[in-house]
Amino acid sequence: MVEQPYVYQRRELVEPDWRRLPGWANVTREEWESAQWQRAHCVKNVRQLREVTGPGLSEEFLAGLERDQRERATMSMLIPPQMLNTIAPAVPASSPGFTDAWYADPVRRYMIPVFTDRQPEWPSHPEAQRDSLHEAEMWVVEGLTHRYPTKVLAELLPTCPQYCGHCTRMDLVGNSTVSVAKHKFGMAREDRLTAMLDYLRRTPGVRDVVVSGGDVANLPWPRLESFVSALLEIESVRDIRLASKALMGLPQHWLSPEVQAGMTRLAAVARSRGVSIAIHTHVNAAQSVTPLVARAARAMLDTGIRDVRNQGVLLRGVNASAPALLDLCFALLDEARIMPYYFYMCDMIPGAEHWRLTLAEAQALQSAIMGYLPGFATPRMVCDVPYVGKRWVHQAARYDTVPGISYWTKNYRTALEADDPMALEREYPYYDPVHLLPAEGQEWWRARARQPELVR
Ligand code: SF4
Repeated sequence: MVEQPYVYQRRELVEPDWRRLPGWANVTREEWESAQWQRAHCVKNVRQLREVTGPGLSEEFLAGLERDQRERATMSMLIPPQMLNTIAPAVPASSPGFTDAWYADPVRRYMIPVFTDRQPEWPSHPEAQRDSLHEAEMWVVEGLTHRYPTKVLAELLPTCPQYCGHCTRMDLVGNSTVSVAKHKFGMAREDRLTAMLDYLRRTPGVRDVVVSGGDVANLPWPRLESFVSALLEIESVRDIRLASKALMGLPQHWLSPEVQAGMTRLAAVARSRGVSIAIHTHVNAAQSVTPLVARAARAMLDTGIRDVRNQGVLLRGVNASAPALLDLCFALLDEARIMPYYFYMCDMIPGAEHWRLTLAEAQALQSAIMGYLPGFATPRMVCDVPYVGKRWVHQAARYDTVPGISYWTKNYRTALEADDPMALEREYPYYDPVHLLPAEGQEWWRARARQPELVR
């Protein structure tokens, strides 16, 4: 037997027993599998979390959560029971190790951050920004980002069934927090959606539409179906991707008879017109792939859509090791028939430094996972470089590891650079977390923070 850095093992999926949590001790399977019950019992604050976990979760943990909500959080708390139940899945709430298991848990770390998780000296990178990808600057209609020549992102709504601590769209998505007043769409939703469709009808160069938010699972199904039906009538649209983390966070939604019947209708029209519909979901940890998630993914594939793909995010403390990523990819591929597609580097939003990896770490992870998965299911690690777009992590033009700055180039223009002759020559920077730099690099950033004019 040849020794390998990673040993593949097929693992049966497990739905953790929600009755181990005192607040859900009497919840029936029928209730658990109801999307309505799940939505009605989402945990939105510390008091509700305490009610679910009982006294097992320490006061210190809850105080740390409260402090994070007050001082750091960019996303308000919202976690469906399905997702919360995957935190410390094998530990009873009465166990003395319950709180420690919560501190260490990968899903908890990104869904329910506590103050001590954050980086103390540099909780935010000096170059961090709300809307770090500058999507709003590239809106051609409010919420319709035209960043790449042939594809657009349509943000239909600013809400999700679950709010992730590291959300890239923290500028817009979710409720305001103490430190972040969310931007609001100015136009009425119906006017925005109509204007989006009008833009796509008069822009035949766009063939690929990412229908997103937020999460499309929060749009009433008839409205989503009518929007996608209208897209299917636009001859130039050939790919439609529906973005929903809820396929994992609230699989009950995608398993509801109304949604399955509606997707079957959409898939039939798409097939007859030669258009591909796919669902893109967002799973970051293997333990999130439960039998219900697998059932929802398979139900969607059975409607006749082209694919279900996963776009995860690389997060320290969650999945930043080759075994964690490979375990996740195999759980997705073997058990749920979800295609591993991308792992994004966490974007440079405020408060994200403790989660973010350096470019070098992401490059090493890409190298470490090669050769285990089928080539078609080997996810690419990508860096979404502000004003550039997604680049494979090995595509940096230059990389100075002392101040932790990588430089990237682009090969297309957005409307922002329409009159910029240097747009395709210029190098665009991306930044590693300061606390992971060598001492000299950290000192460079401290000096810059003290006297920016000296080191700019
Ligand atoms: S589901 Fe997506 S859009 Fe919604 S909070 Fe999470 S990362 Fe943001």
